[in-house]
Amino acid sequence: MTITMSNEFKKQLIEALKDQKEIFGDELLSRNVLHRKTSVVTKIQSGDVNEESLFDVKDDWEKAASLKGLDKLINKCTKCPLHKSRTHFVFGVGNPNADVMVVGEGPGAEEDAQGEPFVGRAGKLLNEILKAINFKREEVYIANVVKSRPPGNRTPTAEEMEACVPYLKKQIDLIKPKLILCLGLTAAHGLLKKRESLTSLRGQLFEYRVAKVMVTYHPAALLRNPNWKKPCWEDMKKFRQLYDEMK
Ligand code: URA
Repeated sequence: MTITMSNEFKKQLIEALKDQKEIFGDELLSRNVLHRKTSVVTKIQSGDVNEESLFDVKDDWEKAASLKGLDKLINKCTKCPLHKSRTHFVFGVGNPNADVMVVGEGPGAEEDAQGEPFVGRAGKLLNEILKAINFKREEVYIANVVKSRPPGNRTPTAEEMEACVPYLKKQIDLIKPKLILCLGLTAAHGLLKKRESLTSLRGQLFEYRVAKVMVTYHPAALLRNPNWKKPCWEDMKKFRQLYDEMK
């Protein structure tokens, strides 16, 4: 049943949103929440609303049932400024039913050019690291915290992460990995909201939904500082052991 909204109803809705802001503060007006509210208001203004859809304020991408569907729905994303300079939206690659997921920071120049994560120098090293613990690249799923390249490979800003992390979380919901490996602090911060040092994070086992999460060095950091390869190898052996114990 389609409902025609009177101006009076629209006014009441706007007042209700203002009341919510007074009660809950600016938290409610964060980018993602604002986006949802805007879509409700847009639905109301266009008359494109029925009793069910009025309260169903999920974006379409949140309802995606497959990685392919999700990719289609988000790869033109313009929620953060990174879309202006990207060549490709780098969605992710690998086995959609993977038990193991690897999470990096964001695409570099090569990844931006090819549209695939970890295909540059750091990617080659990641492939070797995976191979050393008996995983093929195609067997795991590889994605980043942000899907568009930060210019000059700088660390993504808080705003860019806030816009993009929900996509990573949706990928995790669809893949349902048992184990997640975060590469570096940005990945750990994006997924786990942890702000500890890498030294402190490396020794711990975290959980995200039903998955166990470990943190280790980013391969790019290993290329800059080969002394970290040995401690990374220790982490990787633990990661493999954890995986074998879960089977
Ligand atoms: N570094 C990352 O964090 N991700 C990539 O895809 C490539 C390099």
